[in-house]
Amino acid sequence: MQSTALTALRRRRELDELTAETVDLLVVGGGVTGTGVALDAAARGLSVALVEARDLAWGTSRWSSKLAHGGLRYLATGDVGVARESARERHVLMTRTAPHLVRALPQVLPLTPGTGRRRGLTVGIGFGLGDLLRRDAGTSSLVLPGPRLARPGEVARLVPAVARERLHGAWIAHDGQLVDDARLVVALARTAAGRGAKILTRVRAISLRADGATLEDTLTGATLTVRARVVVNATGVWAGTVDPSVRLRPSRGTHVVVPAARLGSPTGALMVPVPGSGSRYVFALPAQLGRVVIGLTDEEAPGPVPDVPVATQAEIDFLLETVSGVLARPLLPDDVVGTFAGLRPLVDTAGSSDGPSADVSRKHLVEVSPSTGAVNVLGGKLTTYRTMAEDAVDLAVKHAGLTAGPCWTTALPLVGAPSLVGPGSTVESGRGGELPDSLVARYGTEAAEVLAAAALPGSASAIGQGIAGAAHLDITRAEIEWAVTHEGALDADDVLDRRTRIGLVPADRAAVRDGVEELVADALARL
Ligand SMILES: Cc1cc2nc3c(=O)[nH]c(=O)nc-3n(C[C@H](O)[C@H](O)[C@H](O)COP(=O)(O)OP(=O)(O)OC[C@H]3O[C@@H](n4cnc5c(N)ncnc54)[C@H](O)[C@@H]3O)c2cc1C
Repeated sequence: MQSTALTALRRRRELDELTAETVDLLVVGGGVTGTGVALDAAARGLSVALVEARDLAWGTSRWSSKLAHGGLRYLATGDVGVARESARERHVLMTRTAPHLVRALPQVLPLTPGTGRRRGLTVGIGFGLGDLLRRDAGTSSLVLPGPRLARPGEVARLVPAVARERLHGAWIAHDGQLVDDARLVVALARTAAGRGAKILTRVRAISLRADGATLEDTLTGATLTVRARVVVNATGVWAGTVDPSVRLRPSRGTHVVVPAARLGSPTGALMVPVPGSGSRYVFALPAQLGRVVIGLTDEEAPGPVPDVPVATQAEIDFLLETVSGVLARPLLPDDVVGTFAGLRPLVDTAGSSDGPSADVSRKHLVEVSPSTGAVNVLGGKLTTYRTMAEDAVDLAVKHAGLTAGPCWTTALPLVGAPSLVGPGSTVESGRGGELPDSLVARYGTEAAEVLAAAALPGSASAIGQGIAGAAHLDITRAEIEWAVTHEGALDADDVLDRRTRIGLVPADRAAVRDGVEELVADALARL
C-alpha cells in the first residue's frame, strides 16, 4: 500500500514519471465515475493514471442532491434493473465502502386533505415497493428503517416548519444521504492513490487515442504525450469535447440553499409532490453547515456545455413555490442564500430524444468509442458509480487484452470507513473520543488524525469563529490544512468549493475567504 495523501508535490513527481512510462489504464475525468474507475482498476493490480482538467469533483459530481438512492424513482419509469442496482449499490455504500459518508435520512411526505386519498395511497404503495428493493438488497432495517405512517407530532419534530393546520399525518420512508458528494469523490481518489493510482488534477486531455492521449498541464501550459494500454473516457457531460461520436442529452437540475433555521432546523427531508405530476417531488434536504438544500428541477439543456451551469429564475421560483405549499410560512426570494445547478450526463439513446428528459433512462453506457478507440463510460448516477466502474474496467481489460484480477470493490472500504461494518453497527466504531460530530461525519475514522496532523496554530477552532455571520461554519482550520496535505487541494478555491462546501453560499465564501487563503498558502509552503 502507498500513502493515500494527495499533495501538490506528489502531483508534480507523478506527472514527471507519467511521461516516461506506459500505464495499463489512463482515466480521463475526475468525477465520481473516473475516480471509481481508477480505484477499481488499481485494486485489480493495474497501473493507473487519472487526469482531471480542473479539480476532483469539478463537474456534475458536486452538483447532485447528495442522495444514495434506493431506486424507487426508477421503478416509476419501469427501469426495474436500474432500481435494483441502485438499491444494491446503496447497500454497499452504507454497510461497507462508505458508511461514514452516508446516513439514513428520514423523508417526510405530509398528508393533508389536499394530498388526496389517491396520492396518499400511491405514495404508500411506492414506499412499500421501495422497501422490497431494500430487502432484496439485503439492507437491514437497522441500517434503513422501513416506511410507516406518522402522526402530526412526529412530522413537526422532523420538519418543524410544516403547516400544522389540516395536517393529519405523513408517510415516512428512509433513503441514504451523503454528507457531501465531492467528499465521496475525494475519498475514492485517495483510496485509489493508496493502491498506486496517479491522481493528477489540472491536467486536461486534448485528444484521446486507443493507446494514450495528448495532455496539457494547465498549471504550466506544457503539453505531454502519454502512453497507455487502454484509455477510459469518464468526462461526463463534456465527453463530446474529446470524442465526436458521443451523443448526450444533458438535463439541468437546480437546487436552492436556504438557512436551516428558516425551516426550524429540520432533521428529516420534506418531500412535496409536484402539482400535476404523478411521480415527481421537490425535496427540502437538511445539509451540513446549517443549510437546507431544496431541489430538484429537470430541464432540457441543449447547446454548448458551460463550465458551471447556472440556475434560472423560473427554476428558483418553481422550487420555492412548490415547497411553500406545505409550509406554515412560505419561503420568499430573500430566504435564498445560494443556488446551484448541474447537468445530468444522460445518454441520448435512439428514441429518447422525443420525450421529456425526466423520462430518459438513468442507465449507464459503457462502450469502445468508434472514433477514439477509448472506452467511454457515461450516464448513470452517483449511487451506481461502482458498477459503472466495474463494467468499464471489465471492458477495458478485455478490449486491451490485459491481465487483471476480478473486481472486488464491493469489499473495499474507502479512506475513513471503518474496516468492518455489520448490520446495525455505525461509524461510531470509528469515533476517537470526544470528536465533534460534524468532523466524524466528514472524515469517519480519520477524524482524529485530521486534528492530530495539523501543524498550524489554532487547528481545532472553526474557520467561521469570530467572524460576523459565519458562526454556523463549523469547519475547523485543521480540515483546511488537511485538504492541502492529504486531499490534493492546490488553492483556496479547491478548498472553498470542493473539499468543503463553504462556497455553495456566496456570503459564507466571502466571509472566510481571506482566512482560507492564508491557511492554504501556509500549508502549501510547508509541504
Ligand atoms: C442536479 C443533479 C442532481 C443529482 N442528484 C443525484 C443524487 O442525488 N444521487 C445520485 O446518485 N445521482 C445524482 N445525480 C447524478 C450524478 O450526479 C451524476 O451522474 C454523476 O455525478 C456524474 O459523474 P461523472 O463523473 O460521470 O461526471 P462529472 O462529475 O461531470 O465528471 C467529469 C469530469 O471530467 C472532467 N473533464 C472534462 N473534460 C476533460 C478533459 N478534456 N480532460 C480531463 N478532464 C476533463 C471535468 O472537469 C469533470 O470533473 C444528479 C445529477 C444532477 C445534475
